[in-house]
Amino acid sequence: MKRRNFLKKASVTGLGLVAVSSTLFSFKEKSEKKSMISPSKPIKPLVIATWDTPLAVETAAKVLEKGGSALDAVEQGCRIEEANENGQTVGKGGLPDRDGNVTLDACIMDEKGNYGAVLAVKNIKHVTSVARKVMEETPHVMLVGQGAEDFAVAKGFERENLLTEASKKAWEKWKETSKYKPIINIENHDTIGMLAIDNNGNISGACTTSGLAYKMAGRVGDSPIIGGGLFVDNEIGGAAATGLGEEVLKTVGSFLIVELMRQGKSPQEACEEAISRIVKKPNSDFRNFQVGYIAVNKQGEFGAYSIHEWFSYNLYKEGVNKNIKSDFFNKG
Ligand code: ASP
Repeated sequence: MKRRNFLKKASVTGLGLVAVSSTLFSFKEKSEKKSMISPSKPIKPLVIATWDTPLAVETAAKVLEKGGSALDAVEQGCRIEEANENGQTVGKGGLPDRDGNVTLDACIMDEKGNYGAVLAVKNIKHVTSVARKVMEETPHVMLVGQGAEDFAVAKGFERENLLTEASKKAWEKWKETSKYKPIINIENHDTIGMLAIDNNGNISGACTTSGLAYKMAGRVGDSPIIGGGLFVDNEIGGAAATGLGEEVLKTVGSFLIVELMRQGKSPQEACEEAISRIVKKPNSDFRNFQVGYIAVNKQGEFGAYSIHEWFSYNLYKEGVNKNIKSDFFNKG
């Protein structure tokens, strides 16, 4: 599954790609009418994840439907994409950096506001689970590089080569024309960010990625950084990001969205405002990169917004898991 050609592909991979208008607008309408402090009936359980990720969302939903926690759900959901060798943006099979090394970033947040992350990890596929171990079994919140890898092995994770033949070939082809200079464009990134609400109404989130393809060695984006690629506040809601991490970090995107929801904005309005902070910067180069956000609030209202067309997300609610095309800013 190649999700990275999001600006070019019209139909992504299908699976019930639904026009955004009716779903989101009806939710928007509702959220505008509703006060954030007097919710009627919260929608739960619920899972939302970036991109066309039906199996990951289904896996998370199954955990929730069996009464499992939102934290277990997002971990199990993200593991699906980490193990999917055909996805070249997350986990095993991710595209490497310029030197041919696959390095992974991930983070996780629970309903108590705990956070764990691993950055630039080689040779370990299930980095979301390693991030959870950092959160639950160390006095720290972040482990980087070799330290993270050694920690994972000490915790029983298997070392394996993450560079698949397909990704190696793609990297070798890239090297022919790349002239070894940064490529920060609209086709070299994708991440799975996932948010879940369990039957107790608790919210957790996780985010996992191989980062920008052909990045400089040592480059880390927004995905494992609290408030950048992910933020959860169990009293308010959660948000997750995908796209050019540098731009998300400069606006602390996920934290911004949660704080905007705290001030009374709906998830949809908050996502739109976060995108607007990026595109309205003086001299913003937004035509040349993509950023997409998803968000959910405590009531189970959700939103998504991106700079360009063809960002989509999978949503599980009320027993239905579907891929939905996000609304977007750049309508030409
Ligand atoms: N946000 C990720 C990063 O910058 C990549 C992506 O979502 O495409 O590393």
